[in-house]
Amino acid sequence: MKFTFVSLFPNLIAPYFEDSILKKGLEKKLFEIDFFNPRDFSKDKLKKVDDYMCGGGAGLLMTPQPLHDCLEEILKNDDAWIIFPTPAGKPFNQKDAKRLASKKHIVFVNGRYEGIDERIIEKFADEVFSLGDFILTGGEIASTTMCDAICRNIEGVLGNAESLQMESFENDLIEAPSFTKPDIFENLSVISEFLKGNHSRIADLKKQMAICKTKYYRPQKGKNDEK
Ligand code: SAM
Repeated sequence: MKFTFVSLFPNLIAPYFEDSILKKGLEKKLFEIDFFNPRDFSKDKLKKVDDYMCGGGAGLLMTPQPLHDCLEEILKNDDAWIIFPTPAGKPFNQKDAKRLASKKHIVFVNGRYEGIDERIIEKFADEVFSLGDFILTGGEIASTTMCDAICRNIEGVLGNAESLQMESFENDLIEAPSFTKPDIFENLSVISEFLKGNHSRIADLKKQMAICKTKYYRPQKGKNDEK
């Protein structure tokens, strides 16, 4: 699987893949990443990639030409799946991360300034995703976040595939509370049942706790799902 980041600031993204699990995934060639800078495609003599907004408005917008030519170049090689991170998009979730892990090539087109000329999104977007109802300075953190969540679902990236099955949002539940050693820390003890070694009892208890935790942290969840 391949991820392409279209970004004016690739150095904000690349270091994230230079450590830990994702670094290992790259080394094992379970996925690859590459970068395209729209500035390299600008036909402006000063390599400009932004301009004032038609009809006025504060700030600058990424102009269509450099992004258009950049995406056409990328699409010459294969019919990649093109994602635009934008606050207007559908909130990205774990189901999306799993589904997208089966794509061959995903391109993240990262906005900067006040965003991207809408015609580029209209022409090229397969999906638009938001990280939440807040405004980031650029799409780089959003697309790196989505890429991380997708990569975890590529076979072999996680050392232990079982971790995926136990994680939050599987079966629409948040993971049950987890503990490690020591059994007592600062007078707080691990739930005693977890120390007794009865695995079916522990699994049952964890399921009940996951249901309680989901109700507590996502009180709207059941209600929204029914709509
Ligand atoms: N003017 C835009 C608006 O009000 O919707 C915000 C532009 S933002 C400063 C610049 C870029 O950051 C966006 O084009 C997008 O790529 C990215 N971005 C900002 N917030 C985001 C979010 N919540 N989720 C995903 N991407 C986001």
